[in-house]
Amino acid sequence: MPDKVTFASSKPKELRADATLPLLLDRMLGKWNFKKRFNEKRVAIKMHLGGNVGYSTVHPLLVRIIVGAVKAGGGKPFITDSPGAVSSAHERGYTAEVLGAPLHPVAGVADAFTYSRRVNYRTLKKVNLAGNIVDADAMIVLSHGKGHGQSGFGGAIKNIAMGCVDGPTRGQIHRLMSAAFEWDEAKCTGCRLCIDNCPNNAVIMTDGKISFIDHHCKYCMHCEIACPSGAISIDQSGYRHFQHGMAVSTREALRTFEPGRVFFITELQHITPYCDCWGFTTPSIVPDIGIVAGDSICAVETAALDLIEAENFIEGSLTHPLKRTGSGHLLQQIHGKDPYIQIEECIKIGLGDGKYRLVKVK
Ligand code: SF4
Ligand code: SF4
Repeated sequence: MPDKVTFASSKPKELRADATLPLLLDRMLGKWNFKKRFNEKRVAIKMHLGGNVGYSTVHPLLVRIIVGAVKAGGGKPFITDSPGAVSSAHERGYTAEVLGAPLHPVAGVADAFTYSRRVNYRTLKKVNLAGNIVDADAMIVLSHGKGHGQSGFGGAIKNIAMGCVDGPTRGQIHRLMSAAFEWDEAKCTGCRLCIDNCPNNAVIMTDGKISFIDHHCKYCMHCEIACPSGAISIDQSGYRHFQHGMAVSTREALRTFEPGRVFFITELQHITPYCDCWGFTTPSIVPDIGIVAGDSICAVETAALDLIEAENFIEGSLTHPLKRTGSGHLLQQIHGKDPYIQIEECIKIGLGDGKYRLVKVK
């Protein structure tokens, strides 16, 4: 039986407040029995609070509605994200007064409040889970769906895998991908053909040394082919290792909760090509879609990606150096990375099957 995913649309059927997203969200949450899930529980609402002058993260009004629904169900919510994002969150409108719940850094103010779990996946030996996630009784994974240079899509999986751990663990997960790029200094003649032939500005030379920006790379292999000395080798499977590392980190975070205590809400508005961590906002690549929610991470992620794919690309929305090339999902055309792979890796390790039935909220 496919998992239920509820959907509140951004496009109102009628011109009255009751038909618009905030009140549709409120009605949608009412269908999920928060009392059974959250009564008397400490509920971590894990968000990406963005940075600097970004304004495309989940709007405080929507967060306030979710906080209200948790409280109405008897839960004790708090908002949480990385220490840096929490310390500057008030600059983007996220305060305890506005949201109705306190904000706490996910792994403490020094990013050192963690619980370690051994995972032994390639170079990722352990993950340090954020203490305020492990100590919570329940969690709402409140994500903003958008493109991402390293994983194609940033939604619930990215929010947990990179957001419910400390900084060093994040670095180790990224390393699973960056380790796939090799440059042999002894063979390199400094001809710069790799730089000239990279269509994505992903090869740079600093003080005579070549390095790669995995965020920009689309795995076209032009640099490796163009190199006359055989100094470059790129292991394309590095991308899948990175996605698998994210799945492992996600599984460890979800494992700390009793069954049925985690709920996923993904907002699909202001769908920019870049992650919110850039600290600025660029134009939306498709029209606003709405909000999806459910209790299966793979079902919610798949529904979010399918809904983005069903929308029309907004011409002129991509800023330099991004461009659409190749085939596949729109986000794959932009970033060269299949955004569904992170879901496939989660499915492989038992986090659901990704099948869903979409129930539209009226
Ligand atoms: S594989 Fe393609 S996109 Fe990646 S660094 Fe090489 S030339 Fe650039
Ligand atoms: S193309 Fe090969 S030899 Fe030329 S600069 Fe790049 S790595 Fe060095």
